[in-house]
Amino acid sequence: MDKSKRAAVIAGNWKMNMTPSQTTAFINELAPKVAGLDGCKVVLCVPFVDIAPAVEAAKGTNIEIGAENIHWEAKGAYTGEISGAMLSECGVKYVIVGHSERRQYFGETDVTVNARVKAGLANGLKVILCVGETLTEREQGVTYETVARQTKIALLGVSAEELKNVIIAYEPVWAIGTGKTATAEQAEEVCAAIRGVLADIYCEKCAEATTIQYGGSMNAKNAEELLSMKNIDGGLIGGASLKSDDFTVIVKAAQ
Ligand code: PEP
Repeated sequence: MDKSKRAAVIAGNWKMNMTPSQTTAFINELAPKVAGLDGCKVVLCVPFVDIAPAVEAAKGTNIEIGAENIHWEAKGAYTGEISGAMLSECGVKYVIVGHSERRQYFGETDVTVNARVKAGLANGLKVILCVGETLTEREQGVTYETVARQTKIALLGVSAEELKNVIIAYEPVWAIGTGKTATAEQAEEVCAAIRGVLADIYCEKCAEATTIQYGGSMNAKNAEELLSMKNIDGGLIGGASLKSDDFTVIVKAAQ
């Protein structure tokens, strides 16, 4: 399948940034800049308390709102967590699962990532599943094994039909928030390998239809080159998604 037939998705990951009032102001500023740029989906994944103002501010625009995590249970004694029903009732359309910061600082494992992926899908959300190697794993030559393991376990029990609502974000951990970007060739190589894993566990057609993003210090300067690669269908953007001009340049690069 030719890349132009896959959905291009540029998603911001705000992490722990922006208050509710800043959220409204940011979306009001961003919306006219990305209006009419329909060659890719424009998504902002925001902190839980920013979801309601974000959804409200994004009404009538081409910006869709996502969350940064989801719990696997429908409800119960899980202090600090959030359920799929809570997210979808608030108008959330996307959810990030398995971000390396969740894996690194909050004890997420491949198994909990799998449970969260399934919860997102069961609640009708599009899941942005993050995978990526650490610097040590890259230096030890186990990049492919690492992303293959993360992808396979995260997708256990996910059907080919459900895979249509999964976006894979390849995010080398050493490139996140560090200003060090993978070269376009390095990013392309791993994104192509992930597509190969999807072909193995599902089918060639399923793999060809899946959107694979690159994430890791993507910015206004390097976006065009990264997004020109055959297997890179979009970006998951941290730092640069907090600046409306930079984020707009990235959205334009994906057109
Ligand atoms: C991210 O948090 O997913 C990310 C890619 O961050 P940054 O763009 O800041 O490296």
